[in-house]
Amino acid sequence: MKGIWKSIKGRLFLLLFTSTSLLLIAIGLFLYHEVRTTVLGSVDGTLHSKMQVMTGLLHEEHGAIELELSELIQGEYSIPRSGHYYKVMMNGKLLAASPSLVDSGFDLSAGTLEYRDEKTREKVFASVGPDDEPVRVLQYDLKTFGADFSFFVAESLSGSMEIIRTFRNFLLIVIPSGILVVCLTGLWIARHSLLPLEAFSDRIKTITHKTLNERIDTGTETRELTGLADSFNEMLERLQKVFDSEKRLIADASHELKTPVSVIKAECDVVLQKERRGEEYIEAIKTIKEVAENIDAHIKALLSLARLDSGILSPLSFAAVSLNDCIQKTIEMTKPLAEKRRISVTATLEDDITIAGNRDSLAEAFLNILENGVNYNRDNGALEVSVKRKEEKAFVSFKDTGVGIQRENLRRVFDRFYRADSARSEGTGLGLSIARSVIEAHGGEITVESEPGKGSIFTVALPVKQEQ
Ligand code: ADP
Repeated sequence: MKGIWKSIKGRLFLLLFTSTSLLLIAIGLFLYHEVRTTVLGSVDGTLHSKMQVMTGLLHEEHGAIELELSELIQGEYSIPRSGHYYKVMMNGKLLAASPSLVDSGFDLSAGTLEYRDEKTREKVFASVGPDDEPVRVLQYDLKTFGADFSFFVAESLSGSMEIIRTFRNFLLIVIPSGILVVCLTGLWIARHSLLPLEAFSDRIKTITHKTLNERIDTGTETRELTGLADSFNEMLERLQKVFDSEKRLIADASHELKTPVSVIKAECDVVLQKERRGEEYIEAIKTIKEVAENIDAHIKALLSLARLDSGILSPLSFAAVSLNDCIQKTIEMTKPLAEKRRISVTATLEDDITIAGNRDSLAEAFLNILENGVNYNRDNGALEVSVKRKEEKAFVSFKDTGVGIQRENLRRVFDRFYRADSARSEGTGLGLSIARSVIEAHGGEITVESEPGKGSIFTVALPVKQEQ
């Protein structure tokens, strides 16, 4: 588990580190390029204006070509190695040069072409000045007054490069620091955002089969984890149901089966005490068979209950069930039992009603009620079944002419293992609780009315399947 958290953190961190680094480096490169272009552009702009001034000073007077550079000689161009230079060539020969070039050995015509401005027809060169400093040179070729002129204006880039260098150094400090700050923040966020998940995981680890009744407090979980905690609690709920029903099954089974098993053992002990006559053995085997059948009925009923308790009847698995079909089939199954005691079983079925449900479980529920209607009836009695529809509900009633149920016991008949007269009853006391579980799992309800000595009416209400 720990490994997963670590790898999630690692992945988050890696993602943050890569994306932030790439983004900051891209921004840095872009800014550096922009500043460099702006600074060099401004130098080129100055050189261009100087070039325009210089070409404007060229004129012809009385057939002679003159270049009045006196204005330019003032200031920066007059200071040796000032970083500001110019040179004018006419037909390949030097016509004029700035005093700043004197003794510098710097030739403005040598350099690497940076670009050519198609509009102004000026060329820009990168060159190296007399003191090995970078120099920007602007060259302009002009054909006029019958001669070929080449004008060169240059400026040292020492100052500009200093600005660019300072800016580059600034970026080299700011970008790694930015990456570091973002990564540390990211690491902190990743660590803290996963803390509730780790706490959640630790909390889950404390839940065992013995503490299945515990739940994760969804109120204190962070919003993102509330859904997870809810689902986890629902899962615990289902697990606990299955666990409880298994525990209950084991407890019920051992309790209920103890007595009949003791009866079998006692019967065997008595028979085996001495030599017996053949009829006595037959009698003993008959008793043992009866008790074994009772054990069998108990086991079947307990398994049915355990299955129902574990939530096997889910509406998701329901299919369309014809109520009349289901009831007719269970009546047919009850008839042999009823005929033995000459009890008439009649059915009044309305139009076919369809239920969304589990056919076998519904049949088991109806069979339990019908068998009770026979078992607790008098000889030559009657059992009437009717099916009616009222709005969105189907009502199935089972009316018998049996012993009836005392008023105070009416509610208890659906309890597990309840038998009104356990001495007389051979049942398991589970039939009606199975029926109730099945009916309730179908969204229905089972009720009973009874008059002791006259008979009982069990009524099952079930929702009718809605047409799609
Ligand atoms: P079982 O019939 O196996 O004993 P049930 O759960 O089916 O168990 O019924 C529980 C008890 O309710 C029965 O023992 C009986 O006392 C009473 N009972 C059930 N159905 C009827 C009925 N139709 N008439 C009278 N009593 C009934």
